[in-house]
Amino acid sequence: MADTAPLLESYAAGRWFRADDEGRPALDAVTGEEVARISSTGLDLGAMVAHARTVGGPALRALTFHERAGLLKAVAKDLLEHKDELYEFSFRTGATRRDSAVDIDGGIGTVFSIASKGTRELPNDTVFLDGGLEQLGKGGTFVGQHVYTSRPGVAVQINAFNFPVWGMLEKLAPAFLAGAPSIVKPAAQTAYLTEAVVRRIIASGLLPEGTLQLLCGSPDGLLDELTVQDQVGFTGSAHTAGLLRNHTQVLHGGVELTVEADSLNCSVLGPDVTPDEPEFDLFVKGVVAEMTVKAGQKCTAIRRVLVPRAQQDAVTEALVARLAKITVGNPRSEDVRMGALVSLDQREEVRKAIQSLRASAEIVFGDPDHVEVVDADAERGAFLSPVLLRAADGAVEPHDVEPFGPVSTVIGYDDLDDAVALAARGKGSLVGSVVTHDPTVARALVLGLAPYHGRLLVLDRDDAGESTGHGSPLPVLVHGGPGRAGGGEELGGIRGVLHHMQRTAVQASPDLMTAITGRWTTGSKRHDDGVHPFRKSLAELRIGDTITSAPRKVSREDIDHFAEFTGDTFYAHTDPEAAAANPLFGGIVAHGYLVVSLAAGLFVDPDPGPVLANFGVDHLRFLTPVKADDTIAVTLTVKAITPRTSADYGEVRWDAVVVNGAGEAVATYDVLTLVAKSL
Ligand code: NDP
Repeated sequence: MADTAPLLESYAAGRWFRADDEGRPALDAVTGEEVARISSTGLDLGAMVAHARTVGGPALRALTFHERAGLLKAVAKDLLEHKDELYEFSFRTGATRRDSAVDIDGGIGTVFSIASKGTRELPNDTVFLDGGLEQLGKGGTFVGQHVYTSRPGVAVQINAFNFPVWGMLEKLAPAFLAGAPSIVKPAAQTAYLTEAVVRRIIASGLLPEGTLQLLCGSPDGLLDELTVQDQVGFTGSAHTAGLLRNHTQVLHGGVELTVEADSLNCSVLGPDVTPDEPEFDLFVKGVVAEMTVKAGQKCTAIRRVLVPRAQQDAVTEALVARLAKITVGNPRSEDVRMGALVSLDQREEVRKAIQSLRASAEIVFGDPDHVEVVDADAERGAFLSPVLLRAADGAVEPHDVEPFGPVSTVIGYDDLDDAVALAARGKGSLVGSVVTHDPTVARALVLGLAPYHGRLLVLDRDDAGESTGHGSPLPVLVHGGPGRAGGGEELGGIRGVLHHMQRTAVQASPDLMTAITGRWTTGSKRHDDGVHPFRKSLAELRIGDTITSAPRKVSREDIDHFAEFTGDTFYAHTDPEAAAANPLFGGIVAHGYLVVSLAAGLFVDPDPGPVLANFGVDHLRFLTPVKADDTIAVTLTVKAITPRTSADYGEVRWDAVVVNGAGEAVATYDVLTLVAKSL
């Protein structure tokens, strides 16, 4: 056997490395045959870390966020074209086609999503500005700005066995966008699937060398090579997380550690829901789906089913009826709903957990020691029946023991406070769900549960059709949870990228702040070379290019005309007596939108030219009322220039300040335009 299964290789320091011993076997979850062998004996982990730091990191950080996002999108497209070969491996982990879609298509979709967020929400630059400018001195010569920069370190990603594709890609994509080269360490049991993905990515040649390395085998000694600026993202057991937390380089060496560990997620049925309501069925379906998808080997699966005492019998009966329809067996078979656990060892772990749960809960469905299987050998494959338990009053174990398989426990609650208190006994979870159609119940439960959860799904008849379900982490939403769940946070759109970067508060003069950030800062120099900036292409425009308009009087006729023309006859613009009584205005004032419209007329250069479109306004504030016969003038200054990589135009953000005759600012905003790259 040993010489038939291939030895997995690591991709290290620019080449595929093969250990020269036989390695440990990884067995097919369904047949027990060897799929692969795994060993990293002789692999130079120090050289991998050095390669990431000196080759991958610099190459990656030379690219802008948009260029990195473009590469990620290309990788996702390439993987999509080759996903069928990944499905073949995925069956061998015990996963059905549906389970594999969550892992493979879900992983690829996550890369697409992160790439798209990167293009839309990050600048075409290497620095990200966090929040607005802080004026730190009265004279405006001392300002503050938070900036995010890439760390010159390496991102080590230690992944769990259950999502060999998604688990890798959901960490890799944000790290890559953040400018951090990755060393991926998959769990041994399913590393053959991760290896197949990495092989595909490396073969595509899309990513700069050194930005992705793979460690198949033991990570012993890897953390010793890490130091300040390096980070470790871990998903797995609380036990391993504890070891990593106590590693000397984490404790004393400045290595940042993010943990996703055990999580006793709950789903709460609202007290408003009776068996006649549609939410009852939604609840039952949700629990059964979470118990059986991936054979319950999901960090987000529902382990605790919290129901009002009055509904405990009805819910238990409905769950049992539905579980009885679940067919277990060969995941390749169309008739099978639930495949195998990842290994016989893992099945033993789950059986032990069920045994512990039985101290305070009785089994109401399933036999942990026996299951009928379709199209497979029940002895050789790691099959397990779904097991539903019902907790006795005051049960302790269901809140402490995580059975990482198709196992859930029904627990009764007295009232909403009790439901929240029971949920909190999980000591922090990745996700919870609340199934209710009652707004008061929804608010009370969500506000009570939120401090203990990273994500909450509120399910009812209205969102059920589009709901992605309790157990699906989404790339645009935060994944992670407090306390026992590890305290880490991943994904969440751009938040997941920024987690890999350093936020620094920079204090400087406006001119130097402009130079540092690449964005024009209020108070810094403007350039007026006599050419209207609307006549300049993207290539010609410079940060700070400016135009100040001639003044214009705003007459009472202008205000009346605007009121009549738009229908905005609000009393402050039309009724002198009522306007005089307004404590803020003390008389007729111009509409804010009139001021902004007149300002556009003042700054525009109307002839055809490089400016293609106006696509919005940000941060509009009306600061001082404009009264009839006041004059206004506007200054427009190029604030930020963002070429679009795949278009022949880019975005220009203009700082607009409208002032009155006394020089007071009456309105400030950013004008957003699209400008051709060349004339
Ligand atoms: P482990 O914690 O054993 O392994 C997770 C990862 O850590 C694997 O890649 C593993 O590598 C690696 N690892 C193990 N020991 C060390 C070490 N000393 N230093 C560095 N890395 C190490 O978890 P499993 O994947 O085996 O899952 C076991 C349990 O974890 C499950 O039963 C479940 O309770 C929990 N789990 C929780 C998840 C969550 O997100 N909440 C997800 C998956 C699992 P190797 O495989 O080579 O040992």
